[in-house]
Amino acid sequence: MSGLFSAEVVREAFLRARGRCECSLLDCRGHGRSPLTLAKGDSRCSRTFFFPERAEKWVARLIDPSGPLTAENCRILCLQCARARDEEIVGQHGAKK
Ligand SMILES: [Zn+2]
Ligand SMILES: [Zn+2]
Repeated sequence: MSGLFSAEVVREAFLRARGRCECSLLDCRGHGRSPLTLAKGDSRCSRTFFFPERAEKWVARLIDPSGPLTAENCRILCLQCARARDEEIVGQHGAKK
């Protein structure tokens, strides 16, 4: 699943994310929150990671599953947020992935 994007696209998306999870859903159950980001009114997940930690700490996900494999359609998520989203999808459809 994470092998969809080309290396260049993932790299571009990662640079845009500045090594930080791009999830900003406040009701996300996997979300990383720190007093610092909350104090700034920043709803984005506070987890950061390095590029070589891909699959260990972060994944590249499609924003629109039917969209193109471009950096614009690629979201960098920490594993916790990615997992929380997977569970959400399973819950919505009541079946397997
Ligand atoms: Zn999150
Ligand atoms: Zn996250």
